[in-house]
Amino acid sequence: MPDVLSANPAAFANSASLPLVGLLAGSLITLGVMVWIISRYRKWLRDLGRSANRLAQGDLSTRVQSSGPPHVAALADTLNQMASQLGDRLSEVVRQRNELGTILSSMDEGVLAIDADLRIISMNRAAAVLLRLDPAKAIDQPIDRVLCDPVIRDYLSRPLETGQGMQGEVTLVREPQEDGAAGPEAQGVASQPAAGPRIIEAQSALLRDAAGDRLGTVLVLHDVSQLRRLESIRQDFVANVSHELRTPISAVKAASETLLDELEFADERPPDLETQKNFLGIINRQAERLQSIVEDLLSLARIEQGKREDSLVLSDAPLSPMVAAAVETVQAKADAKGISIRTRCETGLMALFNRMLLEQALINLIDNAVKYSPEHTQVDVRVWREGGEVKLQVADQGRGIEPAHLPRLFERFYRTDKARSRAVGGTGLGLSIVKHIAEAHGGRVHVESQLGQGSRFTLVIQPA
Ligand code: ADP
Repeated sequence: MPDVLSANPAAFANSASLPLVGLLAGSLITLGVMVWIISRYRKWLRDLGRSANRLAQGDLSTRVQSSGPPHVAALADTLNQMASQLGDRLSEVVRQRNELGTILSSMDEGVLAIDADLRIISMNRAAAVLLRLDPAKAIDQPIDRVLCDPVIRDYLSRPLETGQGMQGEVTLVREPQEDGAAGPEAQGVASQPAAGPRIIEAQSALLRDAAGDRLGTVLVLHDVSQLRRLESIRQDFVANVSHELRTPISAVKAASETLLDELEFADERPPDLETQKNFLGIINRQAERLQSIVEDLLSLARIEQGKREDSLVLSDAPLSPMVAAAVETVQAKADAKGISIRTRCETGLMALFNRMLLEQALINLIDNAVKYSPEHTQVDVRVWREGGEVKLQVADQGRGIEPAHLPRLFERFYRTDKARSRAVGGTGLGLSIVKHIAEAHGGRVHVESQLGQGSRFTLVIQPA
């Protein structure tokens, strides 16, 4: 064997380096594979890291490719699942928040919440309007800085001190804003409620977390100004009606008692027919007065109901027959006072109206003109079209009305001179009826008058 080796030393050398080369090549391949594997791992981990970063930044649509060895793929799947669950929860939270926002902003009640540090954390549109706050400036601010009303501040802070909510009525007086913040109307948040003090029903409650710790207060505000105003109008109305009815009822009672006395002592002294006639006359006149008041009240109630239910029938019709009928109704009364009624109505003039109601309104105006004018004067009834409107005007040469009375003239039971109105059979409801009839026609009524120079009432309605 050595001979063989010695005979070919190069071959011997070659055969000796073969395993070394194999080992080297094997090592190189292993190294290469390891480098490849490490670089793959680095890539997978880099991808995972990038995706986790994007998720952390809030991009929940990010998804990691679930490639690589099982444990890396499992990690990617877990990340993807987490992202999808987070996305679902977030959408749910956003949906609930939007729902809550929509409900709160569409509520008529104002809702305002503060945290335990007495800072405003949330408020809806109605609260901003009622409390004259600009939400953009008031959120996160301490209530002492942004809320002027001490009572409202109390409603918010007291529950945190006492653990008890508060409930009651608060009058909000309008004050100029102290911080100079633009009012909500300037921000286009909502229209401001009518000027004047607002009467608010307020209710506050403590907010607690699951552990029972005090988190803040929520305050609910309900504007009841309109309700209270209507209540007071109704009370005034009932008082006025009672007052109006009391006078004739007392007169009827007194007259009937006197008559009864007369009859009771008829055996002792003969009944005085003249006295009896006199007292029966009183009873008759007062009964008529009661009847007028009740009829006028019923008319008002009917017109208001018609307006409310939108059930008044208006139709296109010529005005002149209705005007002639109204004048005819008052003619005898005018004749008795030597008052002439001059009527001018554009021929063929048509309008959209309810015949019975408009005639009643015109009768009331002409009747007043006759009632409150001296004898032998003239009343002018004029009906014409002007612009897009139809005007019905009644002008008299009476004593006129003082300017101070004009703004309240169309209120129920308002009279410039009670005694005089009663003396001429007035109920104080005539002009109020005219006003309601005008409104039921989508129109209006106004008056111009000067003391000593007569009055001019104009009813405006829509043409046909
Ligand atoms: P009344 O039944 O008392 O006439 P109205 O509502 O018709 O009630 O009128 C209210 C008040 O307005 C009257 O009491 C009267 O003082 C005043 N008034 C109405 N019309 C006239 C008029 N043409 N001239 C002067 N005063 C008038």
